[in-house]
Amino acid sequence: MSANRLTTAGGHPVSENQHSLTAGPNGPILIQDTHLIEKLAHFNRERIPERVVHAKGAGAFGTFRLTKDMSDFSIARVLQGVGKETPLFLRFSTVAGEKGSADTDRDPRGFAVKFYTEEGIWDVVGNNTPVFFERDPLKFPDFIHSQKRDPVTGYKNPVRMWDYWAKSPEALHQMTILFSDRGLPDGYRFMHGFGSHTFSLWNRSGERFWVKFHFKSLQGIKNLTPDKAAELAGTDPDYATRDLFEAIERKEFPQWRVCLQIMPEKEAETYSVNPFDLTKTWSHKDYPLVEIGVMELNRNPKNYFFDVEQAAFSPSNLVPGIGASPDKMLQGRLFAYPDAQRYRLGGNYQQIPVNRPLNRVAHYQNDGHRSEPGFGYDNYEPNGFGGPVQDPSVTEPPLRISGDADRYNSHKGNDDYSQAGALYRMLAEEERDRMTSIIANTMLQVPKDIVKKNIEHFSKCDPDYGKKIAEKVGL
Ligand code: NDP
Repeated sequence: MSANRLTTAGGHPVSENQHSLTAGPNGPILIQDTHLIEKLAHFNRERIPERVVHAKGAGAFGTFRLTKDMSDFSIARVLQGVGKETPLFLRFSTVAGEKGSADTDRDPRGFAVKFYTEEGIWDVVGNNTPVFFERDPLKFPDFIHSQKRDPVTGYKNPVRMWDYWAKSPEALHQMTILFSDRGLPDGYRFMHGFGSHTFSLWNRSGERFWVKFHFKSLQGIKNLTPDKAAELAGTDPDYATRDLFEAIERKEFPQWRVCLQIMPEKEAETYSVNPFDLTKTWSHKDYPLVEIGVMELNRNPKNYFFDVEQAAFSPSNLVPGIGASPDKMLQGRLFAYPDAQRYRLGGNYQQIPVNRPLNRVAHYQNDGHRSEPGFGYDNYEPNGFGGPVQDPSVTEPPLRISGDADRYNSHKGNDDYSQAGALYRMLAEEERDRMTSIIANTMLQVPKDIVKKNIEHFSKCDPDYGKKIAEKVGL
C-alpha cells in the first residue's frame, strides 16, 4: 500500500484514477462508477458566484504596526499602544472586469484591508482613490450597469458610459483621477489606498471625530503607459496578481504608511464641503495627514481560492471605538456587502478561516450550511444558564441627527466641479494632454449631443479641460 494513497472526498481508497468503469472494453460507462460521478459533480461546483464588481483580485497576509497611540481619539484596541502589531489580509482588485479580465485595464483598483483585531474583524474596504463616482447608493446599480456589458449585445460600449456620465456630474472628480496617469497603476504595490468614506472614531469621554483613512505606498507611485497596459493585457493579463505574489516570494514586502485625517464632530456642520459626500476630499491644508502606523504584506496565501476568492470584506465590520458616519454610500454598503457575502459564500461565511476573527466569538446564531459545532451552550438569550451577555462598556456615543425624512436632491447647491478642476490644475501640462487625449479617444464613436453635454461638464471643472477635449474630438 502506498503511503500516499489516493482517496475519495469520503476517504475511500481509490483503485483506479485513469480509466472509467465500462460494460466491456467498448461499452457505456456504468453508473456505479461513483468515483467518476463524484469527480464530475464536484468539478461542476468548483465555482461560486462571481463578485458583480471587484471580481478579479489578488491578496496577501501581513501586519499593521501602530506608531502613534490614538487612545485620545478612540477606545479601539487596534489603535492603542505604540508598537502594537495586528495581523491583516489585504485584497486588491480591478472593479468592472470579470474574473478572467486583464489586470491592466483602466479602472479604479479595490484596496480592501481586513484587520484581525482583539475585538473582532475591522475591514477598511476602499479603493486606490479617495473619492467615488457616486454619492447615493440608489444610483450604484445603474452606474455599474452603464460601465459593464450591453445587455443586448454582450459587449462594452462607451456610448452607454458617456450617456450616463452626461447626466451624473458628481462623477467628474473620480473620472479625473481615472483618466489621469494614476488610472493605470503599475501593479498593486505602487499605488495608494484610501478608506474613501468618512468613518468615526470615539473615545472614553464620548467624544466623536470624523476620520478618513489613507494608505500611502512606501514603494512610491508607478503607472503604466496606455500602450504598455494594452500590451500586457494581451501578453500577461495577470500581471498585477503575479507581480504581488512574486515580490512577496522574493521577500520584497510592500509597505504603506497608514494615515488619518481627523475632523472634530462639530466641524462637520460648518466645513466648506459636505464631509459625508463620497465625491469630495477634505483638503490636506484643512485636515493634514496624521501618520499612525505602517502596514506590510509579507505572506502569500497558500491557496488562491481558499483565501483570496473566499475573502469577504464589509465596511460593516467595525470594532468598538471605530464607527460609521452618515455618508450615504457607506450606509448602502453596510447592507450590500454582507448581503453579497451571504449570497456568494453562505450564511456562515464568517467561519471561513480568512474571515474568522482571531478572538473568541460567542453568540446565539447557529446551524445553516457548513455550520461549525455550536458553542456548547443552548441557543437563546436571555437565559438562566450563564450564556454570553451584552457589554454596555462598548456603547457608541449617541449621534444627534435632525431634519425631515425626505428624498433630498443632492445636486441642489452642490458643487460637482471645483475639486475635479483643482485636481486637473494640479497635473503637469503633459499629463493633462495625455488624459484629454484618452478621454477624447473613448468618445470617438459617441453621438455628438452626448459628447457636447460631457464637454460642458469638463469645462465647468476648468475651461481648459473642456477646450482640450473639444479640440481633440473635433468640436
Ligand atoms: P494637496 O496638494 O495637499 O494634495 C493633493 C493630493 O493629490 C496629494 O495627496 C497627491 O498625492 C494627490 N495626487 C496627485 N496627483 C494625483 C492624481 N493624478 N490622482 C489622484 N491624486 C493625485 O491638495 P488638497 O488636499 O487641497 O487637494 C487638492 C486636490 O487633490 C483635490 O481636489 C483632490 O482632487 C486631490 N486629492 C486630494 C486628496 C485629499 O485627501 N485631500 C487625496 C488625493 C487627491 P501624492 O501625495 O501621492 O502626490
